[in-house]
Amino acid sequence: MRLSVIVPAFNEEENLAANIGKFNDYLRRQNYDYEIIIVNDGSADGTKKIAEELAAENKNLKLINNKKNQGKGAAVRQGLLSARGEYRLFIDADNATSINHTDKIWAFFNNGYDIVIGSRNPRDAEGARQASPQPIWKRFLGICGNRVIQSLAVKGIYDTQCGFKAFTKKAAEKIMPETTINRWGFDVEILVIAEIIGYKIAVIPVRWINSPNSRVGIKGYFSSFLEIIKIKWNLITGKYGSRHW
Ligand code: UDP
Ligand code: MG
Repeated sequence: MRLSVIVPAFNEEENLAANIGKFNDYLRRQNYDYEIIIVNDGSADGTKKIAEELAAENKNLKLINNKKNQGKGAAVRQGLLSARGEYRLFIDADNATSINHTDKIWAFFNNGYDIVIGSRNPRDAEGARQASPQPIWKRFLGICGNRVIQSLAVKGIYDTQCGFKAFTKKAAEKIMPETTINRWGFDVEILVIAEIIGYKIAVIPVRWINSPNSRVGIKGYFSSFLEIIKIKWNLITGKYGSRHW
């Protein structure tokens, strides 16, 4: 199988069916085989039922159901590790980065890149933009957060948080078991581990359409900060050390 698309979903009943429909429409027009894996992250709404119905009518769709909410990072890790594809992409359920961006990953994988990530920041990739932007306070905290991330963890990437990241099977299977963060800091941890291993990371420009029903509140920014501190501590103490590589 060529591509696995992992979709973490927490209380996404409103748009899940429509967006999975869009993902599937795109994927079935491609000339490769694929699977879509929805990871229901302990949703309290009708997400589970909708996902079950979708899975029943589409043989390319798998569902992982978790009773308890653990965070996007945990859901993505689980999806990436249970996937079968030679390439494995995770994408937000709200279609903020549309699935069409997948067109752009292949040129990089064919040229030996191990990871391809989307960015909303033109400093990472020319043409990147928030076509429908996040609210101003999020953009502001995002910039501050990136300063912290760049000084403590990963240098040179201005948008570590975009919900569109693709991996080779090998990169996914090597990185994911090393990760310890279950929520939003997960994206940073992935990049830190990838850099230690020496993986080649490509950044593609993303056209972001912000979805109003975001799960990231002000609390999320604070807990992400603590997660970055934990990542720094792990780095200092050699938790992601070079022993396997
Ligand atoms: N998500 C998840 N578990 C959580 C919170 C979010 O699986 O505890 C999923 C959510 O359903 C979505 C993705 O993570 O597919 C990104 O969440 P959201 O769209 O709220 O993030 P934002 O757009 O604000 O970055
Ligand atoms: Mg979103």
